[in-house]
Amino acid sequence: MAYIACDKHGGQLASLISHKLYQMIEGTEGNSAVGIKTIKYESLGGEQFSMFVDSDTFEELSVAHNIDLAKTITDEEKLFEITLDFVAICPVCLNDWLANRSNVVGDID
Ligand SMILES: [Zn+2]
Repeated sequence: MAYIACDKHGGQLASLISHKLYQMIEGTEGNSAVGIKTIKYESLGGEQFSMFVDSDTFEELSVAHNIDLAKTITDEEKLFEITLDFVAICPVCLNDWLANRSNVVGDID
């Protein structure tokens, strides 16, 4: 997990999200309606992390890595492979956006 310095919220432990979701939050991906899914990871020490991705990326990663992403990932190496292209974002900014995601269809699951 990475540390991120946010202009608005200061230093935070970063959340990881897919590129497409990041572009939507930044406003460069337009207002295309997508579903949002979470990928969950639990470390050996029992720490739990959630990563948010758009549903397209979720499907692509499931196929590419031949894994059921609806289940919690417990393999750190697998997690690394899956999140290689993810983007680090301030968790407060992410939560603000998620709370106001009027342009996003469907519930988070
Ligand atoms: Zn922030």
